[in-house]
Amino acid sequence: MSFRDLNLNTPLYNAIDDLGFTQPTPIQAEAFNVVASGKDMVGIAQTGTGKTFAYMLPILKNLKFSKQDNPRILILVPTRELVVQVVDEIEKLAKYINTRVLGVYGGTNINTQKQAVAQGQDIIVATPGRLYDLAVSRVLQLKSLERLVIDEVDVMLDLGFRHQLINIFDILPERRQNIMFSATMTEDVDELITDFFTAPQKVSIAISGTPLENISQTKYSVPNYYTKLNLLVHLFQDAETYNKVLVFVSNKRMADRLFEALDEFFNEELCVIHSNKTQNYRLRSIEQFREGVNRILVATDVMARGLDIDNVSHVINFDTPDYPENYMHRIGRTGRAEREGHAIVFSTEKEQDSLAKIEALMQMEIPVMEIPESVQISTELIEEERTVIKERNNPTKRRDIDAPGPAFHEKSEKNSKENLGGSYKFKIAAKYKKPKTRGDKNYNKRNKK
Ligand code: AMP
Repeated sequence: MSFRDLNLNTPLYNAIDDLGFTQPTPIQAEAFNVVASGKDMVGIAQTGTGKTFAYMLPILKNLKFSKQDNPRILILVPTRELVVQVVDEIEKLAKYINTRVLGVYGGTNINTQKQAVAQGQDIIVATPGRLYDLAVSRVLQLKSLERLVIDEVDVMLDLGFRHQLINIFDILPERRQNIMFSATMTEDVDELITDFFTAPQKVSIAISGTPLENISQTKYSVPNYYTKLNLLVHLFQDAETYNKVLVFVSNKRMADRLFEALDEFFNEELCVIHSNKTQNYRLRSIEQFREGVNRILVATDVMARGLDIDNVSHVINFDTPDYPENYMHRIGRTGRAEREGHAIVFSTEKEQDSLAKIEALMQMEIPVMEIPESVQISTELIEEERTVIKERNNPTKRRDIDAPGPAFHEKSEKNSKENLGGSYKFKIAAKYKKPKTRGDKNYNKRNKK
């Protein structure tokens, strides 16, 4: 496909020529007609794929010249650096078009930005917090908004901007086009789409289903979280084989839980990254893992995106990603630079569908491994594994007014205690003859029995 196939106009062709681009990238080719049609769209694309122009080409092609002051296009991005970068890209593409573009972000003088807004703009690129402040101050009027683009939604939600996004949705005109881009699909992103988008069309660049040849893949069927943990602890005993391991989990809660559990056994060898950790903490973790000070790094999909680390011996999918694209991204962290890599995926019964999607994408069945006999099969379940009934937007749901009052009896003291998996920890520790659990005064007594 060439840019000619997109039926652009002379000013855009001239700008593209100046930039030296010869043909649209796959995401640009895929997204063009969807964005141009005015339908809601969800694009799955990483930085570097040309996603900024994927939405800007159709938007600029259809943006008529106007003298009115209120912006018609709003682009929300998670960081000020991205605001600057996106404004820069738009200015290059709009070089021969009479379009007013303004970038606004927090941490700088709002009055200067208010003055710039008041001069009249066509396109605003903003971080959510500052955008909301400007709108609330009434300097920025959003009533003429036609299209909303949210870029890097996964990062935005992971940084905790969900409420700010919802506040912004509340003050936007109802009739508008929603366009969003995300590098990874997560539950949070999915939820936002379900709640606020109208029949969005999904556009993703055909991610290669062919994993690198030098990655050997295996899978384990594991009944639940605690058994997965036992298996992981078992595998990690072999420090020579598992010498640089990236363990992926789908969300930060699970990252914390797994980190704490593994910490009992591999304290000095372990680090973690997710978005609730400070920037410094994350950088330190990555550095320690890169240099081999820690051999195990627990990470979420979103935070591990930009990681470029050599010689990762194993990628372990502690959960089975629901989106096959995420699996491909995860395992691509090993087997780099011609070195042999290993990828292992743990799947429960509930995760079999996700596993099937991954195998379908790769058109191969991952060889299955038996759980070694010495690994204890747990029957204990964590909260998320117990059956929950999810109700979303259920119109027949009883309103709170009608709800029965709380039960009058208190839980007995014994029942109100939370099971923290204590006995399980001791069993494993005894089995692997690891140093006693910190703070356990009864350890020696227990083992003498
Ligand atoms: P993005 O994914 O939007 O961050 O873009 C990544 C880089 O690719 C940017 O520097 C763009 O200028 C560049 N780029 C965008 N579209 C094209 C294209 N069709 N051909 C070559 N480079 C491009």
